[in-house]
Amino acid sequence: MDIVRKCISCGNIKTRNELIKITKINNSGDIVIEPGSKIFGRSAYLCYNQSCIDNAFKKDKIYKALKTNTNIDKSRLYDLLEQVLKGTTDGQFKS
Ligand SMILES: [Zn+2]
Repeated sequence: MDIVRKCISCGNIKTRNELIKITKINNSGDIVIEPGSKIFGRSAYLCYNQSCIDNAFKKDKIYKALKTNTNIDKSRLYDLLEQVLKGTTDGQFKS
């Protein structure tokens, strides 16, 4: 059976590879998108679409899901997610 996860924006349940994984690394607090398997932390998932990304930033949903504070650079994180949509980044983000 496929692993399924829930999008924090629309609440739809999808298989893991249909969602963007956003992880806050336990030790450093840095945020990484689509981390490698050796990275552990608290994760949130989003659909690969613009409306779910936009929605995640409304009411700071994404920060609540990651249990992180909002002083992470919002525009940088948003830009990075946009690039992930376009497939032009490996998703590494340092807060
Ligand atoms: Zn969604």
